[in-house]
Amino acid sequence: MTQTLSSSNQSTEEVVAQVPALVKMLKATFRSGKTRPLEWRLEQLRGLQSMLKENSEEWAEVLHADLGKSGLEAALTETQFLLAEIDMTLKNLEKWAKPRKVSTPIALQPGKSFIHQDPLGTVLVIAPWNYPLQLSVGPLIGAIAAGNTVVLKPSELAPATSAAMARLIPQYVDPEAVVVVEGAIPESVALLEEQWDHILYTGNGVVARVIAAAAARHLTPTTLELGGKSPVIVASDANLGLAARRVMFGRMMNAGQTCVAPDYVLVERDVHDAFVDQLAKVVGDFYGENPQDSADIARIVNERHFDRLMRLMPEADDRNGKVAVGGAHDRAARFIGPTVLVDVDPEAPVMQEEIFGPILPVIAVDSVDDAIDFVNDRDKPLALYVFSQSAETEDKVLDQTSSGGACVNATVFQVSNPFLPFGGVGPSGQGAYHGEASFTTFSHAKSVLRRSQLLDPGVLYPPFTPTKQTIIKKLM
Ligand code: NAD
Repeated sequence: MTQTLSSSNQSTEEVVAQVPALVKMLKATFRSGKTRPLEWRLEQLRGLQSMLKENSEEWAEVLHADLGKSGLEAALTETQFLLAEIDMTLKNLEKWAKPRKVSTPIALQPGKSFIHQDPLGTVLVIAPWNYPLQLSVGPLIGAIAAGNTVVLKPSELAPATSAAMARLIPQYVDPEAVVVVEGAIPESVALLEEQWDHILYTGNGVVARVIAAAAARHLTPTTLELGGKSPVIVASDANLGLAARRVMFGRMMNAGQTCVAPDYVLVERDVHDAFVDQLAKVVGDFYGENPQDSADIARIVNERHFDRLMRLMPEADDRNGKVAVGGAHDRAARFIGPTVLVDVDPEAPVMQEEIFGPILPVIAVDSVDDAIDFVNDRDKPLALYVFSQSAETEDKVLDQTSSGGACVNATVFQVSNPFLPFGGVGPSGQGAYHGEASFTTFSHAKSVLRRSQLLDPGVLYPPFTPTKQTIIKKLM
C-alpha cells in the first residue's frame, strides 16, 4: 500500500477506496506497540524537524504559490513556528510522558497512585488552507509526541503545500504510523466514516458541525479549532499610535486570513478620529503609496473568497459604512489592500461573519462598558484584544468577557507562546493544543492505583458487622 493517498496522482474514487485498509494498517501499527517508546516518538519529531529545515526553500515556494506569503512571513508563521514547537516538545517530552505520582488516602494504604499518559490510538487531523503547513504539522507534533498513529488530511485549497507535505512527510516520518491523505470533501467524508480515537479539526464552524456529528456516531472525542469575530477594544487612554500599528499588523498578517486576526475595533468615541488617522498613517508606513506593490501583503486564497470579501465592502451594501483608508482591490491578482471602514452599521454584512481578509471596521462606542456589552451580545470569540494604559481597564475587559484567548496591548502574539494552550470557547472552538496542551490533547490521563499485596485486612470484606462498619467509617 502506498503511504500517501495523493489526489495529484490518484482519482478521488481510488483514494476513497483505499481509506479503510489504510486506517486498518495504522491501527495495526498502534497495536504493535511500535509508537509507544519515547525514543520512537523523539525520532519522528526529529524527522519533522529535518523535513522543515532541509526543505525551507520548497516550503517558502509552496506557501507563496498558495497564498502569496512573503518569505519572512512564511518562515515566522509556519516553519519557524513549527520548529519552536518541535524544539519545546523534544526538550520536555520525557517530563510530560512520565507517570505523575499523586497522594493515596489512608484508607487505600498501603498503595501508590499514579496518572499515566496513554496514547489514544489512531487519530485524524483535518487542516485548513490559511496556514496550511503550521496547522497540519502542528497537531501532528502533539499526536506523535503522545504516541499515536495519525492520518493528516490537508486542505485542498492550498494544493501546493498539500502536495509537498504528501511527498515529504513519508520521507521523514515512519510511514507505517503517519499517513497523509490529500483531497477535498469526498476524501474527508470517507475518513469520517472510520472509527477514530480522536479527531482534531481546524476550520469553520459549519464544517465543524459535520465533523462533530460524524464523531458522535462513534463517541469519538474531538478538538475543534474554529474562528469567529475577534474584537479589539481601544480605550481613550490607549497609546493610539502603538495600538494602530499592532492592530494593523495583526489584521494584515496573511492578508487578514488568520483565525485570531483582529476582526473589528470598538474604540471610545472621543479618540475614534485620532485612532483612524493613526491607522491611515500606519498603512502608509507599512505598505507605501501603492500597497499592491508591496511584497509584504499576501493574496486572497481564491476568487470565491475574493468575491465574498467584496460583499463586505461599502460598494456592495451601504450598511458596511465608508472606506476611511485604502480600499484598493484587483480580482485578477486576488489582491485586496488594507481597508479601514468607518460608520459601520452593527447589523451590516461585514459585522455578521468573520471577515477573514484585510478589511477592518472601526466602530465608535461611548465607553469601555458599552464595548464589553457589544462583545457579550455576540458569539464568544477566539481572541480578544484590549488596548489601554490602565491595568484596571484591561482587567475589567478580561474579567467581564469570555474568549478563547486574549492579548493585552498587542494582537495575535498570544498564539506564538507555546506555554499558552491555544483554543476557542463556545462557537470559536473546543479543546486546545500547542506545547504541553498538544501532548495532553492526544493523550488519555489514565488513573492507576497500585495496591500492596502484603496487607489484606478482613475489615474491608463482608460480612460488615457493626464493628467493621465503625472502623470503615473512621477510615473514610
Ligand atoms: P477549509 O475550507 O480548508 O476547510 C478545512 C478542512 O475541512 C479542509 O481540510 C477541508 O477539506 C475540510 N472540509 C471542508 N468541507 C468539509 C466537509 N463538508 N466535510 C468534511 N470535511 C470538510 O478551511 P476553512 O474552514 O475555510 O478555514 C477557515 C476557517 O478556519 C476560519 O473560520 C478560521 O477562523 C478558522 N481557523 C481556525 C484556526 C484555529 O486554529 N482556531 C486556524 C485557522 C483557521
